[in-house]
Parts: sequence; C-alpha cells; structure tokens
Amino acid sequence: MKNGKPNKVKIGWKDVKIEYVDPSFFKNNVDCYGQYISRTGTIEIQKEIKGVDLANTVLHEIMHAIVYNSSLNSEGGALSDGKDEEQVVNSMCNQLMMVFRDNTWLLDFIKDGIHSEENSTIFRDNADPTSKNPAN
Ligand SMILES: [Zn+2]
Repeated sequence: MKNGKPNKVKIGWKDVKIEYVDPSFFKNNVDCYGQYISRTGTIEIQKEIKGVDLANTVLHEIMHAIVYNSSLNSEGGALSDGKDEEQVVNSMCNQLMMVFRDNTWLLDFIKDGIHSEENSTIFRDNADPTSKNPAN
C-alpha cells in the first residue's frame, strides 16, 4: 500500500498487481476509472481517483477478475457477452458499496466471521497470511 492505495490483491490463486496510470484508456462511459487485464494479471486504475470512487473501482475490477477466474465470461458462460458482464459487475458492485455504506457494521461482521474460531481448520489454515495488509 502506498499513499493509502493498495498495490496488489490476492484473487483466487494469484496476486493481481494494481497499477495507477494516466487516464489513457476509455471504454464505455460506465467503466472509465479502471480495467482488469487478465493476460497480465493486472488491474489498472486512473491515478487521480480517490475515496469512494477508488474503493468502488478496486472492488469493481476485483469482480471482473472473479468473473474471469470463474470462466463466467468464457464462450457459453452466463456472462460471455461483454455487455452482460459489465452490467452485472457494475450493478452488483455499486449495490454492494451502498449496502456497505448504509450498514457500517457489515464489513466488520464479515471480517469477524471469516476469522472466527468457529470456522473449520481447513478454511482458516488456507488463508493467505500475507494478504492481510499490502501496506506491510
Ligand atoms: Zn467494468
């Protein structure tokens, strides 16, 4: 983490780099703050954005990586049409961000549940201890 901005995130089996770039890429108007590049395992984010826009963009691009890792956007997959993927990712991400905002207890509740002693040892032991805080 540098200046409060993460520089990597573990998604599935690999670390995805997060790079902050000049706003030289433009897709549709709905997705101009960031992009996930599956070939290189990189998330690019426009370097000017911050606050809720940065948080939303990081989550949005993580969701694109999850779609890719899950093959949902492969031929015959539920999101094989790029427009469908964008609509689903954008809608789910924006709605999740509002739920997180409107329920300030929720993220801590989820975090407590993930790290609860009630979990099986398999779940706990497979957690990546290095992924807790990329700033360290
Ligand atoms: Zn998108």
